[in-house]
Amino acid sequence: MHTARAGAVLTVDLAAVRANWRLLQTTVGKAACAAVMKADAYGLGMDMVAPALADEGCRVFFTAHLEEGMRLRPLVPADSTIYVLHGPPPGATAEFVGYGLIPVLNDPAQIADWRAACRRHQQRLPAALQFDTGMSRMGLAPVDVDRLLADPVWKDEFKLMLAMSHLACADDAEHPMNRAQRERFAVLRARFPGIPGSLANSSAVFLGPDYHHDLARPGAALYGINPHPGKDNPLRQAVGLRARILQSRMVQAGDAVGYGARYVADGPRRIATIGIGYADGWLRFLSGRGHAYVDGLSVPIAGTVSMDSITLDVTGIPEARVAPGCEVDLLCAQQTVDDVAREAGTIGYEVLTRLGSRFHRQYL
Ligand SMILES: *Cc1c(COP(=O)(O)O)cnc(C)c1O
Repeated sequence: MHTARAGAVLTVDLAAVRANWRLLQTTVGKAACAAVMKADAYGLGMDMVAPALADEGCRVFFTAHLEEGMRLRPLVPADSTIYVLHGPPPGATAEFVGYGLIPVLNDPAQIADWRAACRRHQQRLPAALQFDTGMSRMGLAPVDVDRLLADPVWKDEFKLMLAMSHLACADDAEHPMNRAQRERFAVLRARFPGIPGSLANSSAVFLGPDYHHDLARPGAALYGINPHPGKDNPLRQAVGLRARILQSRMVQAGDAVGYGARYVADGPRRIATIGIGYADGWLRFLSGRGHAYVDGLSVPIAGTVSMDSITLDVTGIPEARVAPGCEVDLLCAQQTVDDVAREAGTIGYEVLTRLGSRFHRQYL
């Protein structure tokens, strides 16, 4: 059986991903809703996720790297637009043209390269521009925009498809940065009349229509991550994870469990070992603090998370239910990606994108 060959089964609910995209598209109303596919669709598998969203009607996709864009191209309809967020690496124009990818130009050097490429190809090749409105990560500073506009020849060289920026604090609806960035974006956009604009990531989709512009770019929300942690999640969970019990044993008072002997039983306890570990993205930080679920009942991680296994304290669960071969839930209705993130001191994005490559994958 598949679950016996791999240590755990990762279930990706494509119907949930599709429903999440539909909700996002409905929420942004007249704006278009893209789908961010970087990091293998946040670990869920771009091969399966991209065609499902295309089937749902999505026609704009984003990747971070050129290579991701090249992998994505054959997975989506020919009339789809694929933006590459990190822009063109030197010497890669032919790949953008050949694969029909559109670079996001983030700095003057990328703009200069793209303009030179257009002259060489004698074509007005499409590109997007990203402005930095307060995150200081990617994008043109206002002075770069001044220089570009001072030399209007660029308009004859490349075809500007999209003006975009990215919010630093969209997951915190009350944060003053949201409004400040939106206002800076409005000022910059006004300098490129008639060009479609895009500001919203997942969280910003839920900040209201002032953030929607012409195109929203959600990633995390498609995959069920809560856009505003701490509030009700409007999205459907898209991943489940079940691991198999490899061994089940009683320990007695004074017996140690796991590396570093960091768990010592204070009395008779039943310990179940499951076949998933930090090499599968179940963070070692969850040692002694994370949980798994057996039929909806919480069982704590006992001791240190190993590379390929985790020991759980399953005392009190009927023995037959925690025998070798039985399964326990790690991502389920009782424990979402956001719940795991909270226990692991991180965000749902990191939990999802770290999920390993050794799981048996099932797509629903
Ligand atoms: C990753 C990314 C997104 C998607 O962000 P989510 O928070 O996952 O919705 C959108 N835009 C840019 C520039 C990004 O880097």
